[in-house]
Amino acid sequence: MSLLWKIMLSTSVAITCLLAVAGWAVENYFASNASVMLNEEVAASSRAYESLWRARAERLASISLVLSRMSDVRAAFGTRDQATIRDTASELWNSVAPSRTLFYVLEPGGGVVASLGPALKAAPSFPLAAAAARFPGQATGFVIENGRLYQTVVTPVYVAAEHGSALLNVLVACFEVDAALARELKQATGSDFVFFSRGRPIASTLPVKFPERLTRQEQVRIGDSNYAQFVVPLADVAGQRVGELRILRSFQAADRRLATLRVRMVLIWILAIALGLAGTYLLTKRIVQPVHALERAASRIATGDYDARVPVSSSDELGRLAESFNEMCAALRIARQELIRQERISTVGRLSTSIIHDLRNPLAAIYGGAEMLVDGELSAGQVKKLAASIYGSSRRILAMLQELADASRGHGRRREACRLRDVVLAACDSLADAAAIPGVALACDVSPEIELTLDRPSVERVFQNLIANAIDAMPHGGHVRVSAESADHAVVVSVEDDGAGIANDLRPHLFEPFATAGKRHGMGLGLALSKRTILDHGGEIWADAATGRGARFLIRLPA
Ligand code: ADP
Repeated sequence: MSLLWKIMLSTSVAITCLLAVAGWAVENYFASNASVMLNEEVAASSRAYESLWRARAERLASISLVLSRMSDVRAAFGTRDQATIRDTASELWNSVAPSRTLFYVLEPGGGVVASLGPALKAAPSFPLAAAAARFPGQATGFVIENGRLYQTVVTPVYVAAEHGSALLNVLVACFEVDAALARELKQATGSDFVFFSRGRPIASTLPVKFPERLTRQEQVRIGDSNYAQFVVPLADVAGQRVGELRILRSFQAADRRLATLRVRMVLIWILAIALGLAGTYLLTKRIVQPVHALERAASRIATGDYDARVPVSSSDELGRLAESFNEMCAALRIARQELIRQERISTVGRLSTSIIHDLRNPLAAIYGGAEMLVDGELSAGQVKKLAASIYGSSRRILAMLQELADASRGHGRRREACRLRDVVLAACDSLADAAAIPGVALACDVSPEIELTLDRPSVERVFQNLIANAIDAMPHGGHVRVSAESADHAVVVSVEDDGAGIANDLRPHLFEPFATAGKRHGMGLGLALSKRTILDHGGEIWADAATGRGARFLIRLPA
């Protein structure tokens, strides 16, 4: 995953977490607020209901009181005649009493003398005994009768009697608590009202059926909605509970507002994510671009191109990093040039040492050949052979000097694909004189199919060294055999002889410079230089452990 994606992913996770926490807090606050508000609304509805109720009761009470004190009405009550009472009281009653209000004139025993207002099939039986406890004052309360609920105001009417006053009549003003009244209350307060008595609802404004058994908790579930609930007990004239009023406020509106809030929160989240990601993308691009440039420049340096430079586009940390990187590149460039210079000097030095060492063989051949030409009486054939040998040796010396000149000018040594057998045979040829010692047999057992990419002159000198060492180790003659076999992406070449073998105390230092033993003119450089050449080719060289007679050198070269 790229840096850009990682940063964008963490930004969106951070925004989501932040908004989730904020959303949770806002939703919680909103829900608790809504609940508190609903409870307050219900309580306010209850207060509104109470004052409405009280006003209505007081109005009935005062009308009843006025009627009971009017002398002509009292006189009419005295006649106990329904028609007379109606004629006298109905005009006043109908003009001041609220509609649907019933008015009954009762005998002290409870019998109905007359009634005003909308007629009922059966008059409710009024609890006069309970109301009498409050006489001569008025008594108010609810009456439940035949499944109907009435609010009543009971007013006694007294007349002067022999001993004080006597109860003439009882006036009862009442009205039925029904769905119309509940609706009126709902219109006035906005809350739902359910009048509840004897385990069942009597009047309700709820759009759904009110469950008969419902807890009195502050929050209840009716149908699909939650409601805030406020319970007001309904008492009769004696103060006994005859039912209760449940004032309810639906959470539907609050739930709708909560749903809207949630939708808004999601929209805000989407917007915040979009803006956050866009901002992060632009910012990260600005950060990542210089990092990419650095990465590309570092890759170029890894491939050896020290000219890479990164643009410095700001003065912040990234700009300073780019500056430091460019300075580092410049320092590396200088260090590399110095290294190349040093390497060239050391190459020339090494090559000089090698060539000084390797010049000995062709020079010895030239020297010996020239001596024979000067001293001896030679046949034309022998002269020709000696001249060819001197010519070959001089050419090899020239080639070596050319190699040295190339190296000092900094020209790399070229590698070419060549047959290993040809390289080995060329090395054998150059040693033909040495091999001409009686009893020395050279055998090249290398397949012509083996081809390797080599710095041919230096590898040829490696074989010359090894074969020359082998011949030196066999002063009384013997066999030198060069063989090769391919194995596992490499070719292993073996140079073995049946001479005296390598001295044991020499073995640990065999490939170190100036390690020599048993030779009069030995410089101890041949194996050290050979090892250097083989290592330069990515290969290795080692001497086989002593296996009896002779020595065996092995070279592994990558195929
Ligand atoms: P130099 O031949 O000039 O002494 P080299 O580095 O070529 O230097 O060889 C180091 C020494 O290793 C030789 O002096 C010789 O003692 C030993 N040596 C090398 N090749 C052989 C061999 N084929 N048999 C026995 N000894 C060997």
